[in-house]
Amino acid sequence: MTHHSVHRTLRLLATQTSSCSRVLRRARLLHSMLSEVVELIDKKNKFMITSHIRPDGDGLGSGLALYWMLKSLGKEATVLLRDEVPPAYTVLPASDLVVVAPDIDGEYDAAFLMECSDVERPGLPSLKEQFVVNIDHHSTTRPFGNINWVDSTAAAVGEMIYNLCKALGVEVTKEIAECIYTALLTDTGSFHFSNTTERTLKIASELVRRGVEPARISQALFYSYPFAKVRLLGLALSTIERDETGLIAWITMSRETMSEAGASDDDADGIVNHALSIGDVKAVAFFKELSPGVYRVSLRSKGKNNVAKVAESFGGGGHRNAAGCRIEGEFEDVKRRVVTGLQAAVGLAPVSA
Ligand code: 5GP
Ligand code: MN
Repeated sequence: MTHHSVHRTLRLLATQTSSCSRVLRRARLLHSMLSEVVELIDKKNKFMITSHIRPDGDGLGSGLALYWMLKSLGKEATVLLRDEVPPAYTVLPASDLVVVAPDIDGEYDAAFLMECSDVERPGLPSLKEQFVVNIDHHSTTRPFGNINWVDSTAAAVGEMIYNLCKALGVEVTKEIAECIYTALLTDTGSFHFSNTTERTLKIASELVRRGVEPARISQALFYSYPFAKVRLLGLALSTIERDETGLIAWITMSRETMSEAGASDDDADGIVNHALSIGDVKAVAFFKELSPGVYRVSLRSKGKNNVAKVAESFGGGGHRNAAGCRIEGEFEDVKRRVVTGLQAAVGLAPVSA
């Protein structure tokens, strides 16, 4: 070995050791956060579980999986949400037991918040007075809980709940498996997105072994739409535009369009992803008018282009490839600000509009 190559080998080893110790440190930290949750469940008896307003597959799936796990340990558990379970998710076992209420109805030993960026996200005012356990996988989440378990390497909170199930020594029943599978399927875009890892697919494989029928879940989630949703998709898609570079595209949906289609708010979910199906496009936005001058903005991107940063700059949050925020203002101005943000996110110098 030459002098030069010895140096190169040593340098390589040093880099590997430092990245290895970073990985170890993270693993130790995650393990201690998980242990805190296990200890709490061991010691206490009466729990409530909630998620954010307008619940999605990960929030509901993870929450209901945790419900089944607590039940199998003989604990008291209530799933309480501010908003109704969207029709597609009534396929989930125990979704009919979800309590829908504008606030908390009693005393609990602890409240689990599934994938919430802050204590306000569930829309339950008295939550602030509870012992809060924050379970999330968003990189933008702050440690707002009494216990915080945040793993941004998890594709879905469902992956974390699967680990919790193992740590608690609870058997993965068919009910638990169906709930976690739904969480994984929805948060990975049917295993299309870049958060899908070997671990995700390994867990999914075990869930299928435990009784999940993938086609039955997919049928309920993606092939049971109301007519109005597909009509809305058609009207919304016809508004698609792109910037001069062709790297950024956006879809706009007004209240007028929604009433023309006879659609509900939930029917707009998922439309944003169609903009991303264009080959050259790297980042997209979906502008949904909530009321005159108020817009709900969904952002999506491919690969390393980070839209969470763009959402954060408008007071929202999310993941690198899927984020959202609410913006008020005149539409042309809102659009210009978001498109400029997306152009920066894909590495373009702002293109003057
Ligand atoms: P969507 O566009 O489907 O509503 O949201 C995509 C992702 O961004 C989800 O993971 C969601 O949790 C996050 N997100 C959407 N809106 C907000 C928001 O207003 N605040 C925060 N913190 N996250 C959001
Ligand atoms: Mn999630």
